[in-house]
Amino acid sequence: MSTTVDPAPATAAFEIRPTSSPCPDAERAELLATPTFGTVFTDHMARVTWSAEHGWHDRRVEPYGPLALDPAAAVLHYGQEVFEGLKAYGHADGSVWTFRPWANATRFAASARRLALPELAVEDFLGSIEALVRTDAAWVPSGEETSLYLRPFMYASETFLGVRPAREVEYVAIASPVGPYFASGVKPVSIWVVRDYHRAGPGGTGAAKCGGNYAASLLPQQEAYARGCEQVCFLDAATHSELEELGGMNVFVVGADGSVRTPPLNGSILEGVTRSSVLTLLAEAGHDVQEAPIRLADLRAGLEDGSVAEVFACGTAAVVTPIGRLASDDFDLTVADGGTGPVTAAVRGQLTDIQYGRVSDTHGWMHRLL
Ligand SMILES: *Cc1c(COP(=O)(O)O)cnc(C)c1O
Repeated sequence: MSTTVDPAPATAAFEIRPTSSPCPDAERAELLATPTFGTVFTDHMARVTWSAEHGWHDRRVEPYGPLALDPAAAVLHYGQEVFEGLKAYGHADGSVWTFRPWANATRFAASARRLALPELAVEDFLGSIEALVRTDAAWVPSGEETSLYLRPFMYASETFLGVRPAREVEYVAIASPVGPYFASGVKPVSIWVVRDYHRAGPGGTGAAKCGGNYAASLLPQQEAYARGCEQVCFLDAATHSELEELGGMNVFVVGADGSVRTPPLNGSILEGVTRSSVLTLLAEAGHDVQEAPIRLADLRAGLEDGSVAEVFACGTAAVVTPIGRLASDDFDLTVADGGTGPVTAAVRGQLTDIQYGRVSDTHGWMHRLL
């Protein structure tokens, strides 16, 4: 994942149409005091409209509110939709930053391409986020491990039941003040390894960040809950033997010898920005880091004989989350020390230190919004 040169702010291109009924200060302060994940939204949203005829136009920030959608809008029937997820972090000096947004912008364009949606220019993606966060700056929370979660998305808005790529599309970015992703905090999670379902397959949409992948993961997720596990891990659809990823997070395995492994990008795994950053940080810390297949059989054996020391998942929302238990129909294994290993904790600390501005950003990963 490459980091491109920080482009000039494009906020000027977005017309600000402020709400006439912003959330009262006292109410907002109360909402910001105890943020949960994705339940509260700011006063505004950024939008850009696309049509085959006019291309991308009408860049604006407008009051947050329901979107008008015809019952025959293509997205409601065929799921032509992609999204992104990134965060704005408030630093101690009052400045607000986001983490590697160029990677999200590039991935958003790649996801759009796979779903036959129009690509939004990197400048418009960044411009929409800058304009939204500057307009709703009062919504950036300041508590420990809190942030303003940004959710850009794009969907087929054309009123048309025929099956072809839509000729009318909406891009919208919304923002939500959030606390830690898992209500339980940074405690190890339990994982159910799914045998009967896959979230993606060869040639499918696994490498694109689209709602459809998540829709496919919900039933297995429900079954994991029913079996007492918090998250699911999917295996590859071709051989059913190698780990791919969780429903919305990439997975890493740390050996007792300090080596680190994550599944390679095989076309059905989502290339996480966190995954890429963790690979860099662990390599710099001197670990032997490999993007190589992880066979479930080997992982089970490694957990049993102690050659696997730590397992963790990572993604923007939950950052780095230790995995303490791995189970399926025919096994139930506990990770050493219940999953509170030192490599997981160290890389989580390093990453959040960079994101919250507690250490200098030597990689050029941070982009100032405010
Ligand atoms: C978004 C996502 C991830 C994590 O990506 P980040 O860029 O690190 O947030 C991993 N897997 C899936 C399926 C995802 O949708």
